[in-house]
Amino acid sequence: MKKKVGFIGWRGMVGSVLLNRMCEENDFEKIVPVFFSTSQKGQIGPKIQGVIQSKLEDAYNIEALKALDVVVTCQGGEYTNVIFYKLRKIGWNGYWIDAASTLRMQKDSVIVLDPVNKNIIEKSIQRGIKNFIGGNCTVSLMLMSLGGLFVSDLIEWVTVSTYQAASGSGAQHMIELLNQMGVIYTAVSQELKSMLVSPLSIEQKVTKITRSEVLPKNYFQVPLVGSVLPWIDTHVKYGQTKEEWKAQTETNKILGYKDKILIDGVCVRVGSLRCHSQSFTIKLKKDISMSEIETILSSHNEWVRVIPNNYNDTVHDLTPTAVTGKLITPVGRLRKLSLGKKYLSAFTVGDQLLWGAAEPLRRILKLLT
Ligand code: NAP
Repeated sequence: MKKKVGFIGWRGMVGSVLLNRMCEENDFEKIVPVFFSTSQKGQIGPKIQGVIQSKLEDAYNIEALKALDVVVTCQGGEYTNVIFYKLRKIGWNGYWIDAASTLRMQKDSVIVLDPVNKNIIEKSIQRGIKNFIGGNCTVSLMLMSLGGLFVSDLIEWVTVSTYQAASGSGAQHMIELLNQMGVIYTAVSQELKSMLVSPLSIEQKVTKITRSEVLPKNYFQVPLVGSVLPWIDTHVKYGQTKEEWKAQTETNKILGYKDKILIDGVCVRVGSLRCHSQSFTIKLKKDISMSEIETILSSHNEWVRVIPNNYNDTVHDLTPTAVTGKLITPVGRLRKLSLGKKYLSAFTVGDQLLWGAAEPLRRILKLLT
């Protein structure tokens, strides 16, 4: 019998990408979907393969949720915190699939990224685990691109600087960035057309606007357009943010290690719309050749691409513009650093809404149904 699967958060960035991917792969044929909303109960549901779905259920209605075999939520941590425990408390024993970080580190949860940890996922299903959680976007994308080095046990430590897209904060944030861009452009559009205005005076006008109240900043609180924000999520301790803390913690959990690999760095929000980029310094356990490294990386999974370390390939194939909307997870700028033969530099780009969020959820749902 087809499983009854409830979708919460399908309207957001991750949820809408998930629905698109499920349509592309005909996944809806194998399940009975029910769509929920926290804010639009009773309104019409999404169009799935040309068919408008029945009215939206209330995402806080425990009775309606209780009737499901599987809950897939891309709604966020606040929703998980309220509903997950209520459902489990009344004895609901279905599968909980979640994009939010809330349950990731719980003992009875598995972080899903099957090209990297399929063995752990399969064993956990056999053991009766019911909570399958998508990993942090930069962690999942790092493992998709650099997984070969991780699983070959070649890494001693990693330090990373991230360049995370606006949509990583959700739909409203991405829209706000576009509105910020619009305000700036409108303010200087005449000057941009005129050959007589100096670039410096245009920059000064733009800077003044970004510092004024004219710029929309309800979500980011500060300008992102023309700027970068070297702080993502809350403070954990010793000056480290939660986004930075996740790198080591989640990576080791995904790989089934107990804090074996050391990872730390700085997570930065940038003004790209979609796709997270990351710049790595990797300390290898031993000195191996660049050609061996490239072979290990490219043979890890079918989505990784090794981009030759030259200008043309890099600017055409290793950017958010090139990778957005694609499942490939390129890695380039590969070279030994002048620090020594065990120090490797790498730069990765990946769509944080695909392998960084929706795709692992889609694949675990398929496996479970
Ligand atoms: P989001 O875009 O903010 O969507 C979450 C919910 O916000 C929607 O389901 C919708 O719920 C509501 N919403 C309010 N205004 C909306 C609008 N204008 N358009 C669309 N939805 C709107 O959040 P998200 O980025 O998808 O993130 C969901 C979860 O995934 C979070 O826990 C996040 O940390 C995690 N995650 C996100 C990413 C990413 O790249 N964004 C990556 C990995 C993990 P109602 O229909 O109920 O109103």
